[in-house]
Amino acid sequence: MIDRRHGFFNRDKETMSREKREAYQREKLSEILSHGYLHSKAIRSGFEKVGLKPGDIKGLKDLERLPITKKADLVNAQKETLPFGGFEVISEAGVRRIYVSPGPVYEPGEWDYDDIRWAQALYACGIRGGDIVLNTFNYHLTPLALMLDESLRMLKATVIPVGPGNISMQINLMRQLRVTGYVGTPSFLMAIIEAAEGMHLDPKRDLHLKATFVGAEMFPESLRQKLESKLDLLVRQGYGTVDVGCLGYECPEKRGMHIPEDVIVEIVDTETGKQMEMGATGEIVTTNFSKVFPMLRFATGDLSYLIEDPCPCGRTSMRLGKIMGRTDQVTKVWGIFIHPWQVDEMMSKFPAIANYQVVVTRKDYRDEMAIYIELKEEIADKIGLKRKLEKEVQETLKVASEVIFTVRGGIPDRAKKIDDRRIWE
Ligand SMILES: [Zn+2]
Repeated sequence: MIDRRHGFFNRDKETMSREKREAYQREKLSEILSHGYLHSKAIRSGFEKVGLKPGDIKGLKDLERLPITKKADLVNAQKETLPFGGFEVISEAGVRRIYVSPGPVYEPGEWDYDDIRWAQALYACGIRGGDIVLNTFNYHLTPLALMLDESLRMLKATVIPVGPGNISMQINLMRQLRVTGYVGTPSFLMAIIEAAEGMHLDPKRDLHLKATFVGAEMFPESLRQKLESKLDLLVRQGYGTVDVGCLGYECPEKRGMHIPEDVIVEIVDTETGKQMEMGATGEIVTTNFSKVFPMLRFATGDLSYLIEDPCPCGRTSMRLGKIMGRTDQVTKVWGIFIHPWQVDEMMSKFPAIANYQVVVTRKDYRDEMAIYIELKEEIADKIGLKRKLEKEVQETLKVASEVIFTVRGGIPDRAKKIDDRRIWE
């Protein structure tokens, strides 16, 4: 029996002590800062804007002094300086590939891909050497499928570069080639399972899957439970972006996503760009160590928080909690930012609530906020609950809101969690 739940892709890196990890990352950071400053026009100008030199950044905390690069900055820089916006460090040998991601963003792909972060993620999900793996990510234009393909090679797993689509072909391949690993989005895996069931197959028995790696979309716990029970195995996810690669991956323990050693992740206040305290939710900002396309303080637009307590799997890295949403889903009421995840968290404390929606309106130049609530069933003390909820909203969101009960089904399916109905004219 292959042990898919224990072990490490790179034991030395993944089990480093905190001090060793910090020293390792400090050194890698100082290398990439000097390298970028010396060879990348965009990085040098980032330093010059704030009047700093690479030597001024001595550790993680000092990174705060450098400007944040948003996706839009990258897109604009590339419009001015084609193709890579001056971030690139290209040697005479050129690049192996040019990737094209939505934006559009052009990205250089190096000749020798030696970034182990996705390989660490695939290993933690249970994929091992000798597996035959269906890679259903799209191989066209964007880098993710090819990065995972290269990473599966590092694991000595066999890849079927199938890409997405054509579900009946996927099922035939899985059965005829006895595919043991799946790499792709969780929703596509669910579609495969449903199609297999439609063909009167039993996914557990007939699909032979032993390990799955999912990513590239939100992965709700309810979908994970469905997939795990239908396949009778662990389904684990990795997280990252096409611009900066892997930023986190789950291990069998499912206690957040381990941050790989070869990248720096900060959680910052979206307004100030300053690092938040441990455990607080903010934007994921990352600095990678790519020699070809270094990104300093690249803002992902995703919200999460850090976990530092030890994980029983033995990996010692800090972890990202779940992805709470996007920074652009924020709404401002009375000048205060309200994120959908804050409302989620608050409502989860009240088990009687089945569904809810925040509605923001404006009357006589004043913002008004109401929270519509559907209850699971009628309760005796509705007035008491209303008072409790209104107090909780005031304390958590710092904004006054009226709580209004509505009938079951009163909030339309797929309604926005925060519905901003203000008209600005
Ligand atoms: Zn772990």
